[in-house]
Amino acid sequence: RTVYLNGDYLPEAEAKVSIFDRGFVMGDGVYEVTSVLDGRLLDFAGHMRRLTRSLAELGMGNPLTDDEWLHAHRQLVTLNDVTEGMVYLQVTRGNPGDRDFAYPPEDTPQTVVMFTQSKPGLADNPQAKTGIRVISIPDLRWHRRDIKTVQLLYPSMAKMEAKHRGVDDAWFTEDGFVTEGTSNNTYIVKDGRIVTRPLSNDILHGITRASLLRYAAEAQMQIEERPFTIAEAQAADEAFLTSASAFVMPVVEVDGVALGSGRPGPVATRLREIYLEESRKSAV
Ligand code: PLP
Repeated sequence: RTVYLNGDYLPEAEAKVSIFDRGFVMGDGVYEVTSVLDGRLLDFAGHMRRLTRSLAELGMGNPLTDDEWLHAHRQLVTLNDVTEGMVYLQVTRGNPGDRDFAYPPEDTPQTVVMFTQSKPGLADNPQAKTGIRVISIPDLRWHRRDIKTVQLLYPSMAKMEAKHRGVDDAWFTEDGFVTEGTSNNTYIVKDGRIVTRPLSNDILHGITRASLLRYAAEAQMQIEERPFTIAEAQAADEAFLTSASAFVMPVVEVDGVALGSGRPGPVATRLREIYLEESRKSAV
């Protein structure tokens, strides 16, 4: 596999980063994941906007222009022959030499890393036909979940807990309400209305979420942006989640309770089709 490191395209074994890099020592960095279908990038502009925002919230500039990012993404997709899959990018605050909680001087070069993962069959994921099962777990993450940092330990712990309990994923709850999933935004459907938590620092501002809500509104579907509880989810007709890599994924069980028919519902199924169709149209 060919990867990207600070402007160079290298075999992965030759891409080396300092052990003093603040991404490694402090978790001081941000990332984006952009999906690839038909060799093209989905929702690319949205991912670039959020990257700049995440960096700015941490007092960092964006090391590349959007055109440079696009070129690098396309280069990696071509060099690695990715038809379906994803491109991962990460920007960290670089290597200041000495470990220190205070940020290093602003002219410290950031570390930029990118790689691809091929996932043939991503759009036709068989899980979308059966739906997935989730459990709820208290949301013990920090309170700036709007910044897409590389600090992913708690979501990893939650994912492992879900695995140990024989289900697919976990939904986080806080003050009685669902915040989001380990790596996705969450929704329920009741009487035809799509309910999802509004944007705030409590959740990541999903790029798939933004596009999907726009497509749903264009299709005259009713959307209610408000928090919902696990009990409401269990009593809902349908549930689903969104992320760049899962697109729209039906959820058929929450904490052991089957929703509706126990199979993916018509709204989630239709939204998945709409998202795939529209995001393919606007892919670059
Ligand atoms: N929420 C969290 C915590 C995430 O990690 C992710 C994606 O990784 C999402 C939501 C979905 O965001 P997006 O649709 O931009 O992939």
